[in-house]
Amino acid sequence: MKTRENNMGWLENWEKFITGNGDTMTKTDDQYIKTSGLQCPSCEAYEVTTVDRVETDDGSAWQEVNCDSCKATWQDIYKLTGYDNLEIAK
Ligand SMILES: [Zn+2]
Repeated sequence: MKTRENNMGWLENWEKFITGNGDTMTKTDDQYIKTSGLQCPSCEAYEVTTVDRVETDDGSAWQEVNCDSCKATWQDIYKLTGYDNLEIAK
């Protein structure tokens, strides 16, 4: 019985090791921003496609992105940083 319990413990640790490895494959926000959103945060391929439509709400916006390589999907998040080309009607 004792040997069996030890084996189960080893299996649990192995699963944690696998899961932990998976987490390190995904990028942090900072790492993703450095790629200008051109690189898949999951598999690091540059074959990413952005959906044309951008959703906006109270100074922030987001856009759906798909990876053509690993089929991952995520959202690029944008923040309002200013305005330009103001035209005042006369
Ligand atoms: Zn990918």
